[in-house]
Amino acid sequence: MHSIEFDQAVDPASALRLVQQPNSKFIGGGTNLIDLMKGDVERPARLVDINHIGLADITELPGGGLRIGALARNSDTANHLLVRTRYPLLTQALLAGASPQLCNMATVGGNLLQRTRCPYFMDTAFAMCNKRAPGSGCGAREGVNRTHAILGTSDACIAVNPSDMNVALAALDAVVQVSGPRGARSIPILEFHRLPGATPQVDTVLQPGELITSVDLPPPLFARHTHYLKVRDRNSYAFALVSVAAALDVSGGVVRQARIALGGVAHKPWRMPAAEALLAGHALDDARSNHAAALLLAGAHGFKDNRFKIKLAERAIVRALREAQDNAGGSA
Ligand code: SF4
Repeated sequence: MHSIEFDQAVDPASALRLVQQPNSKFIGGGTNLIDLMKGDVERPARLVDINHIGLADITELPGGGLRIGALARNSDTANHLLVRTRYPLLTQALLAGASPQLCNMATVGGNLLQRTRCPYFMDTAFAMCNKRAPGSGCGAREGVNRTHAILGTSDACIAVNPSDMNVALAALDAVVQVSGPRGARSIPILEFHRLPGATPQVDTVLQPGELITSVDLPPPLFARHTHYLKVRDRNSYAFALVSVAAALDVSGGVVRQARIALGGVAHKPWRMPAAEALLAGHALDDARSNHAAALLLAGAHGFKDNRFKIKLAERAIVRALREAQDNAGGSA
């Protein structure tokens, strides 16, 4: 039996203080952490409950952006009027992400920190997993790897980031605000998650003892022409094989700016500025979208079971861009 201490923080300062104890973890909605604890994948000595420290509000920022508190529930965020009307891409991604029950519990901060659903990581019956047991090897590289990464992989790990929200946040250039023993800092979303490299056990650049306080969205450039496309094995509830967050700023039929982020293909949301620049200043057509897709997938490498993802991702990008252009709506 593994005993766990439980503390309830009353504000961010007490949360930061309590989590300084060795092997402590914050718990918010618990929708990922509790699963991993049940499977003996995570074994914290102490849980610090942060559900009562505030940080659940969604407020406008000076200049037109939006601040989403780290403890805002996914369903509250998805259905918030300002998110629906100004950032419908985020609403679409959140609602595609999980069942209503999970969305009611899961928090934005926890969603950022979701761990991979690689079956070798999730099941301690498998001996080899560098992410769970550093140095043990990667069971997926030569094993069952249909859902794994095709971009940014390493010899040590080919897992994917499972979040839909993170893909939309990447397309929207969100900034993660954190607070820690050394003060507060801002981390652009594309720098928040890591590629696996030789240390796949480290998912993000968050330092021990740091607390995510909010996610900030810049003023909405892409409220109208956006689309989140999630390709998965079953529509009711499944992680993405490939997902695309596409956002276009279109004027007079010409794309002024574009954002394309991919999910289900790498250890972090995947963007390629050169592919987005290719679309700017032109009317969108399939030939140009195909060219952008090829740039985004440059360097993609499939494994035994997942080579299909390369072509699937290319087609999903073209379709998502087409849907984004055709979508003139302002809310999800
Ligand atoms: Fe572990 Fe990563 Fe290999 Fe999966 S892909 S078995 S998470 S090291």
